[in-house]
Order: sequence, then C-alpha cells, then structure tokens
Amino acid sequence: MSRHSQLTVRCPNCLSKIPVQKNSAEAVCGKCGIGYRICWPSPSQPMIRGLLAPISPRESE
Ligand SMILES: [Zn+2]
Repeated sequence: MSRHSQLTVRCPNCLSKIPVQKNSAEAVCGKCGIGYRICWPSPSQPMIRGLLAPISPRESE
C-alpha cells in the first residue's frame, strides 16, 4: 500500500491536469488559475464539483 499515485482532475477550462492533494476540498489550475471545488466519490478519485466562489469583498481579509 505504499504506491504513490498522483491524484489529478482535468481542468474543464483548459483541459490540463490539476494535481489534487488527497482529501483536499479545492484545487487551483496551475495553467489558467481557476479554482475548483473538489469532491471525493471514492478516496482515490477526486472529481470537480464546481467552481470555487470568486473572492467577494465580504470574505476578503
Ligand atoms: Zn485550467
């Protein structure tokens, strides 16, 4: 069980692979910079669930 597999999802915008940290709830495409919500249908299979909410003034620091 020591196999290290890189978990990725495919960016719907630019079709490049986005590496996803295990159990992470979000991922950002390194190519186009769009953030996505990630869900986990199974522990080894990340899926894009939707876009991360754009940064709003209310949620900024
Ligand atoms: Zn992208």
